[in-house]
Amino acid sequence: MKKAIAVIVAAALACAAGFALSACGQQSNGSSASDAESSAATSQAEEQFYIEPISDEVFERIYGKSFKEDCTLPREDLRYLHVLHVDLNGEEHEGEMIVNYHIADDVLDILRQLYEANYPIEKIRLVDEYDADDERSMEDNNSSSFNFRFISHTTRVSKHGLGLAVDINTLYNPYTKVVDGERIIEPITGEPYLDREADFPYKIDHEDLCYKLFTEHGFEWGGDWEDRKDYQHFEIPTAQVEEWYPSNE
Ligand SMILES: [Zn+2]
Repeated sequence: MKKAIAVIVAAALACAAGFALSACGQQSNGSSASDAESSAATSQAEEQFYIEPISDEVFERIYGKSFKEDCTLPREDLRYLHVLHVDLNGEEHEGEMIVNYHIADDVLDILRQLYEANYPIEKIRLVDEYDADDERSMEDNNSSSFNFRFISHTTRVSKHGLGLAVDINTLYNPYTKVVDGERIIEPITGEPYLDREADFPYKIDHEDLCYKLFTEHGFEWGGDWEDRKDYQHFEIPTAQVEEWYPSNE
């Protein structure tokens, strides 16, 4: 009896060894179960990054808000982006952004790379969720792009109005300018973050991945301006905008 058991045990061991070897062989081909699972997760995340024309459903959400009734930019020039992003706690969220079709691929690529690098972005919502009120959106640290408006006292459409500028983590990266000796801060609750030497979350500076990716894709950073600072803001340079929209004067 002992002998028979020994034979069975030996056979079982050989089988186990054989199995291990074949599993090992499979792994070296890069197709183990865990690899398959992680590549499935990657492609699932990948599917969450896409660009669409402005559907009727989206248009209904933005008309009369970011897409003002006097909007001179054709709806056809805009694209809807769906993305994923992670917040400071590493939690994953879905995001929505509307940008100009000229930069849709670039912005999608930038947001995908930021997601893959676990770069924290708190919210990426349409500004329409704040009734297209920039101040409210910024106080909520929302990241967004398109919001139609003319530059004050002109018939020129602003870069956000063309969907050619993107604001990221807006509360922690405020806009500021001194006008007639008075300092303007937007959002007003962003005042504690005007000290760019201080250490705080979501801060954009020259070492920042967000800065690197946007500038690599041809955007200009508002933090580099001299007469004012707009730390949240990345835009397409004016010469390029004039080429795309020559009648915007
Ligand atoms: Zn901006």
